Amino acid sequence: MVDYLIIGGGVIGSFIAYELAPVGSVSLIEKESDLSQVQTTHNSALVHSPVLITPDKGELKAKFAIEGNRFYQEHAEALGIPVLKNGAFLVAKTDEEMAHAKAYLENAKARGIHDAHILSAAAMMIAEPNLKDDIKGGLNLPTAMTADTYQLSKTLERHAKAHGAMFYMNEAVMDIEVTADGFTVHTTNGTYAAKHIINAAGVFAETIASMVEQDVPYKTRPHRGEYYVLSPQAKGWVHKTLFPMPNKITKGILVIPQPDGTIRLGPTSTYQESLTDDTPTDEGLNAVKAGIEDLVKHIPMDTVIDTYVGIRATTDYHDFYIKRSVEHPNFIHVAGIDSPGVTAAPAIAQYVKTLIHA
Ligand SMILES: Cc1cc2nc3c(=O)[nH]c(=O)nc-3n(C[C@H](O)[C@H](O)[C@H](O)COP(=O)(O)OP(=O)(O)OC[C@H]3O[C@@H](n4cnc5c(N)ncnc54)[C@H](O)[C@@H]3O)c2cc1C
Repeated sequence: MVDYLIIGGGVIGSFIAYELAPVGSVSLIEKESDLSQVQTTHNSALVHSPVLITPDKGELKAKFAIEGNRFYQEHAEALGIPVLKNGAFLVAKTDEEMAHAKAYLENAKARGIHDAHILSAAAMMIAEPNLKDDIKGGLNLPTAMTADTYQLSKTLERHAKAHGAMFYMNEAVMDIEVTADGFTVHTTNGTYAAKHIINAAGVFAETIASMVEQDVPYKTRPHRGEYYVLSPQAKGWVHKTLFPMPNKITKGILVIPQPDGTIRLGPTSTYQESLTDDTPTDEGLNAVKAGIEDLVKHIPMDTVIDTYVGIRATTDYHDFYIKRSVEHPNFIHVAGIDSPGVTAAPAIAQYVKTLIHA
């Protein structure tokens, strides 16, 4: 019998394996042929500045964004995680947006975050000459960075395996039985006995939870995000991640340089029924283009090499849902991990460890 069976090998499952492997036996089950083939690599790959992850978006999200950002700042290179520590600009285009930028700054200071500051339009244009000429200024967010999220998971896998963790790919969890001393997990390849289950199945977390819970305490509300990818030929067009002023629902359409030299443009945010439909649409991609044209000029669309869609594992719960099951307390829900899940992942894993051992 294994101490901890983790379902799902995205960034969350991988970080939890990394955190738990030194304290007990770990098996991780992933239905795809490799780690992080779903949400974790179909996103903006940003380690967000915690300035933009305010508590109204969810108390855990805001707290874990601070702790997660700090983890990447301090440990990414030492662990072998490829990151691009390029910072971000939050761009204001009107006086009203400039007032919002100042409000973000005040809010951040009240939360103990002191590294952001206001920039004039002139200072921003010197750093990023391809911003639109009509900008008013904005915020400098120096702790934002991007991570190679596939390599991140593979790095965590290596560290977890060094402590004896087992990772099983190409194996889907099909059913879970509750037993006297834990659980029996049936997969497409076999059967596992486990004392604890950690449900890190992303957009399928509700499906997995319904295998043990009479009433799953959240409902999945998937939201698609569409992107263009520019080739490394576009390198130098922009340097920092560029954000428009976020609205109440989304952070808007961004320009996001990556550690491998590519640049991502996106994402949109649209509700969809399907958990798996990731086909790009003209409507989505046109919305990306329109958003980008509002922010920057001389857009090198001739260097587009790809488009893709990521599906956010959003639920109807107002925050990440990370709790023990009420019905079966050794089953841990790690659900509703939409943005900023990559940023928060190190802190989520530590929280799960504490939750299990409380
Ligand atoms: C458009 C978009 C933009 C985003 N941008 C950012 C950003 O810039 N910064 C940030 O911090 N966060 C961002 N996020 C959020 C971030 O990507 C997610 O929070 C994070 O990747 C969630 O990781 P996960 O491991 O929970 O999910 P996933 O990566 O989806 O992993 C879940 C895994 O479970 C597996 N699985 C499912 N069912 C089963 C089963 N039955 N048996 C076995 N395995 C199973 C899946 O195959 C999958 O690999 C974004 C998300 C999206 C969609």
